[in-house]
Amino acid sequence: MDILVKDLDYALDPDLRIYRGIDILIRREDGGVKLYRGRNLLEKFNLDRRDLKVIDGDKKCAIPGLSNNHTHIPMTLLRGIADDMILQNWLREKIWPNEEKLTGEDVYYGALLGCLEMLRFGVTSFNDMYFFPEEIVRATKEVGIKGAIGYPVIDFGTPQYKDLDKLLINCEKFIRRYIGEERIKPVVAPHAPYTCSKDTYLYCKEVSQEYNVPMHTHLSETRYEVVEMENRMGMRPVEYLESIGVLGENLIAAHCVWVTKEEVKKLARYGVKVVHCPGSNMKLASGGVMPLVEMLREGVPLSLGTDGPASNNNLDILEEMKICSLLHKAHRWDPRVGDVDTVLGMAFNSEVIGFENKDIVLLDLKSPHLRPVHSIKSNIVYSANGNDVDTVIVDGEVLLENRKFTRIDERDLRTLYSKIDRIVEKFE
Ligand SMILES: [Zn+2]
Repeated sequence: MDILVKDLDYALDPDLRIYRGIDILIRREDGGVKLYRGRNLLEKFNLDRRDLKVIDGDKKCAIPGLSNNHTHIPMTLLRGIADDMILQNWLREKIWPNEEKLTGEDVYYGALLGCLEMLRFGVTSFNDMYFFPEEIVRATKEVGIKGAIGYPVIDFGTPQYKDLDKLLINCEKFIRRYIGEERIKPVVAPHAPYTCSKDTYLYCKEVSQEYNVPMHTHLSETRYEVVEMENRMGMRPVEYLESIGVLGENLIAAHCVWVTKEEVKKLARYGVKVVHCPGSNMKLASGGVMPLVEMLREGVPLSLGTDGPASNNNLDILEEMKICSLLHKAHRWDPRVGDVDTVLGMAFNSEVIGFENKDIVLLDLKSPHLRPVHSIKSNIVYSANGNDVDTVIVDGEVLLENRKFTRIDERDLRTLYSKIDRIVEKFE
C-alpha cells in the first residue's frame, strides 16, 4: 500500500533542503519506491484516502534514513562488559576471550538486538563486519532494515573458522549466496592491514572485483598500528595498501584517524570511502582525530559509523552527529568546523555502502528539548537523540510506528531480552 505522510511541520531531503508544511507520498512504482514531496498531494495526485496508509505529520519532522556505515552489531552482547580500559588490555582480557565463546545462534540474537536498536533510532542502513555473517543477514531480514553485511577475513581465523583457507572458501560462497538481494548486500571484509597479509588483501580484492561488491576494512585506527606497519613494512598503512594495489572506489575504510595530509590526498585520489567513528575513537582513546577538514578539502567521500556497541556504547547515529561536530570544534579551536550541513550529509550517506536513500524517518518534535525550532537542522544535530524517532519507513514499508515495532511485538521483545540475558551468563 502507498503511504502518505500528511502535513509535516518540517522535512529535510538527502540534499539537505528544508521544507515546511508539506506531505510526502511514498509510492511503489516499476518495482521500486518513489518519493514525492509537496503540498496537498492527496488532491494533486487525485488519491483516495482508503487506498493509502495515512500518517499524521503534525509536529513532526521527516528526515532521510540514517546510515551507520561501520559497526559490528552482534557486539551488543558485549555492551558495557568492560569500559575505561587500555585498548590492548580491553581486547585481550575482555573482548577476544568472550567472543571465542559465541555460537552462531548467539551472534544471531546479538544482531537481532542491534538491528532493533538501530531501527528504534532511525538507522535504516548499516555496514557490518563480524563472524557468523549469515546469522547477521538472518536477523537483518527479520527486522527489515538494509544491511551491507561483511564477511570478515583475518589471517589468524575467526571463532567461526580458525583456518584461513576455510575462511576464504566460505567468503566467496557467502558473497555468491546473497548477491542480488534487495535489502542485503554482501561485502568482503579484510579486517586490517596489521592482521591481513598482502595475499589475503589481494584475494579479497579479487572477490570484490569479480562480484562487484565493496571491500570493508579498518585502516589507521591507532598510532600503534602506524608504528607497527612502519617497522614491519617501512610504510604507513595507507601507503602500504596503495603499494599492494588495494586502494580504490570499492574500498570502504573505517577510522583513518592516524593519516598524514599526503595519505588524505591518496584516499581522495583513489576514491576510497572513509567512515568516521568519533565516539569509538574517543572512548577507546585512539588518540589523534580524523582530519575532517583536510578530508573535506580533498573531497574524500565521508560518512559516520558508531563502530561496535562495546566501544560506543550504542548505535545512535543522531548522537554520533553531535559527538562528531563537538569533537572537531574542540580539536581545531574553531566552532565553524563540523557544521550542521557537514554532519547531516555524513549521517544520511547510505550511497557509499550501496543503498539509495529513499527511507523516511519521522522525528517527534513535541518534546521539551526540541522546542522552539529556530533552525530544524540545529535541533536535529545538537538537541535530538535516537529516542526522538517516532516512525521509520524503509523501502515503502512502515517498520516502526509511534515508537512501536510493526514486525515484532512486546512479547517477542521480552523473549529476546531474556534470551540475551542467558547468553551473557557465560561471559567472564
Ligand atoms: Zn570496527
